[in-house]
Amino acid sequence: MLSAVAARLRDLEVLTRPEHPDLTAALATRWDELPAHVKTPNQMLGRRTAGCEGTHGVFPRCNLACTPCYHSKDANRVRTDGEHTRREIDSQMAFLREQRGPGQNAQLIGGEVSLLSPDDHFAALDAMLRHGRKPMSMSHGDFDYDYLEALALDPVSGKPRVKHLSFAGHFDSMMYGRRGIKKVDTEDQLHEHRRRFCAMFQRLEREHGVTHYLAHNMTVTPRNIDQIPAVLRACRDMGFRMFSFQPAAFVGNTNRWKDDYREFSTDRVWEKVEEGAGARLHPNAFQIGDVRCNRTAYGSYVGERYAPLLDEDDPRDAAALSGFVDTFGGMDFVAPAPVLAARLLRGYARNHRFLVTSASFAARFVKRAGGPRALLRERPQAVTYVMHAFMDAKDVRPAWALLRKGVMSDDPRIRETQERLQACSYAMAHPETDELVPACAQHSVLDPMENLRLQQELPLVQVAPAPVGA
Ligand code: SF4
Repeated sequence: MLSAVAARLRDLEVLTRPEHPDLTAALATRWDELPAHVKTPNQMLGRRTAGCEGTHGVFPRCNLACTPCYHSKDANRVRTDGEHTRREIDSQMAFLREQRGPGQNAQLIGGEVSLLSPDDHFAALDAMLRHGRKPMSMSHGDFDYDYLEALALDPVSGKPRVKHLSFAGHFDSMMYGRRGIKKVDTEDQLHEHRRRFCAMFQRLEREHGVTHYLAHNMTVTPRNIDQIPAVLRACRDMGFRMFSFQPAAFVGNTNRWKDDYREFSTDRVWEKVEEGAGARLHPNAFQIGDVRCNRTAYGSYVGERYAPLLDEDDPRDAAALSGFVDTFGGMDFVAPAPVLAARLLRGYARNHRFLVTSASFAARFVKRAGGPRALLRERPQAVTYVMHAFMDAKDVRPAWALLRKGVMSDDPRIRETQERLQACSYAMAHPETDELVPACAQHSVLDPMENLRLQQELPLVQVAPAPVGA
């Protein structure tokens, strides 16, 4: 009895710490591993987060065709198989929990997630949650409300079996085969599909109380780069809370490569994002991994006015960020109210001076947002802008091979690739080799072999069992 009470108190003590001790250890390890060039005061990898995670080889098939497509050409020869998905996800997520602690964002990604049955999709999300991940399903968004409802509701009771769903819908004019519009010439032709995607989640919330977080993903090529501003203006109020742009890279299925993807720089993409956002963004306030891979800008719209969460030119905001990380570290703010309150109290208790810093930061943010009256008049709408620039397979292959031998290349291009891989913020789990692998290495090096193997294991045409006695 006494030992049960002691154990319960110990659990409670850990639960209400700002940062779980397993996460503290994982962050320290990640920080130690990072190359010196990214250990800047605004670096969040290894201080606030261990990085994003993604699944691989769990449902490689997709029913749309994209140019480019990051999956190897054999991906579509692998059957979507719920049992395989459940087993693999459980093992990959258990490994991630062990290596990186709890509370990290993990993408349910591979091929097209909606090719899983709603029950298998739910089981996958459930396993991710069980292993302390925060799952986001990555989809082309071409599914119906019936599917979403079946995913969210218990098939027996008809009651919600999830409280919240997080989805990223990938929409761009390089995708072929969407129902209702097989071939897309310009981005604006997809707006009704983007709107329909958001509307399904809004209906789910209205009818069943299941909340959502929606991201919009878009591959950027010379064909659509100039359409980014119009996409952002048209989609800002649809319901997406994140807009993520991926400049196309030469990776994956070579048959799907079109155009010169290196015709423009990532700076040019970001300029277009800023043009569409209608404001200067502040990606340098906060960095995740290498700036050549990632840019992230947090902020809110109050009416038409955009207020960055942090002003990258204001040293007081830089100090506030530092104070925040020192006080709360990797704290998970998504928690039941009493737990959150206890975590906040314990954080402030160990660094009470941060209370003053927080108050002055909040005052500056309110001012940026137009003042208290503007905030009372208009509900702020948080929107995050992201750019994630994957690398070309021809650079990643030699860079990864050398890294595994512990050798840094003399070739500046390969060395740059190695530095980015070392600072990678997007990892995939390989429990069988005890490794975490950057997504670039996964797609450029490991996917082709993995899909060949899966093609044998999960052929598209299932061989019927031989009749008894044959
Ligand atoms: S190395 Fe590749 S997967 Fe990792 S953060 Fe950079 S672009 Fe992304």
